[in-house]
Amino acid sequence: MYDALWINARLAPMTGTEAAVIERGAIAVEAGRIAWLGEMAALPAPPAALAPIVHDEAGRLLTPGLVDCHTHIVHAGERCGDFELRIQGGTREDIAAVGGGVRGTVRQTRALSEEALWDETLPRVQSLIAHGVTTFESKSGYGLDVETELRIMRISRELQRRLPVTVKSTFLGAHGLAPEYDGRPDDYIELLVRSVLPAAVQQDLVDAVDGFCDKLGFNHAQIGALFDAARAHGLPVKAHADQYNDFAAGALVAKYRGLSADHLEYASEATVRAMAEAGTIATLIPGANWTLLETARPPIALFRRHGVKMAVATNNNPSSSPTCSPTMMMNMACHLFRITPWEALLGFTRVGAEALGLGATRGTLAVGKVADFAIWDVAQPAELAYRIAVNPCRRVVKDGIVIHDAPPPVIAERAGGAR
Ligand SMILES: [Zn+2]
Repeated sequence: MYDALWINARLAPMTGTEAAVIERGAIAVEAGRIAWLGEMAALPAPPAALAPIVHDEAGRLLTPGLVDCHTHIVHAGERCGDFELRIQGGTREDIAAVGGGVRGTVRQTRALSEEALWDETLPRVQSLIAHGVTTFESKSGYGLDVETELRIMRISRELQRRLPVTVKSTFLGAHGLAPEYDGRPDDYIELLVRSVLPAAVQQDLVDAVDGFCDKLGFNHAQIGALFDAARAHGLPVKAHADQYNDFAAGALVAKYRGLSADHLEYASEATVRAMAEAGTIATLIPGANWTLLETARPPIALFRRHGVKMAVATNNNPSSSPTCSPTMMMNMACHLFRITPWEALLGFTRVGAEALGLGATRGTLAVGKVADFAIWDVAQPAELAYRIAVNPCRRVVKDGIVIHDAPPPVIAERAGGAR
C-alpha cells in the first residue's frame, strides 16, 4: 500500500529535454517520497486497492513543486514611492534623495523587532506557497549590520521550521554599503568576513553567500574576499551579476564554481563561456527588468549556444519585483527574454532546484524524489506562462501531504434571482 495516490492527472515530470507530458497519469507517494509514477493504465491494481487516499485530479496538470531560487522575501515595508517616481522619469539618485532605494528598506527593516518582521513576511510566504512554490531561497541584505542580518537569517530558518516549505538561507550582507561605512567599502567587507558571516555560520543560519558585484556595488577584490571566506566555511557562492553593466561578475562566480549568477543583462560572451565551463547557472529575473524599465536583455542565445542552464525566479523584493507570482514571471521571461514556456517552467523546477544545490532531491517528478507537487487548473505546461495575472494553482503538495487547496470563488447571488 502507498500512503496516497493521485490519478487522472497530466504529469509533467520535467526530466527530459522536451515538453513531455504523461496523459492520464498517476503518481504514488510513500513516506514523503515519490514511490511510483506513470500511466494510470499501468497501475498494478485498482487505485482504491493501492492507497487509503486517492485524489482524482480530473485531467489537471501536475508538475514538481515550484522552486524559487532568488528572493528577498524577509523585509519591511514597501517602496511604492520609488515606483511612482520611476515611472515619471525619476532616476536612482532622485529616489535615494527622498529616502527610497535599498537604504529606505534597510532603515525600515532595522527598525522592526523579530516578531514584527515575521508578521510582515508571513503573508508573502503564504502567497508564494499558494502560487505553487514548495522550495525557495531567502536572502538577507536589508540589515547591513550584524544584528539585523542575523535577525533576517533567523527568520529564514524559522520559516522552514514553522511552515511546510523548504527554505535555503543566503547571506547577502554585500547587498549594498551600510550607511555607517560610506566611502569605506573595504572596511565593510571586512566586517562581513570577520564578524557577520562567522556568527551566521556559528549559529547555523546560512546555506550560501551572495554579493552585489557591480560598478554600483562591490568590486572583484571585495566580492572575491567574501567568496574566499565563504569557501573557508564550506559554503557555495552566487552573485547579483552584470545587471547594470558588463562587470565580468558572472565570470567571477564561475571562478569559484558558484551555483548561479543572477540578472546578467550585460554579460559578455567570455562570461557566458566561463559560466558554461564551471556549470554556473544563469538565473533570469524578468520582474526587475520590467520594473526598472531596463531595455538590455540577458544573452539568451549565448546561454543556449554554450549550454548554460537558465533558472527563473520571482526575486521577491519591495523595490524591483514586488511579486509572489512565479507564473507571471514565466510570462515575463517568455515575453521579454524570448525563452520558451518550457524553458520558463524548467527554470522554476529542475534548474531552479539545481541553482539551490537541490537537484538530487527536488525539481523533477521521479521515483525516490521528494513528493513536492503543484497541481494546476490548466491542461498543458505552456499555459502556465501563457495566462496573464491569474493564479491557476489549484493544490500544493509538500512531502506527500496536501498543504494548500484553493477554494473556488464564491459569488453571492442577487436576492430575488436574475433580472
Ligand atoms: Zn536580488
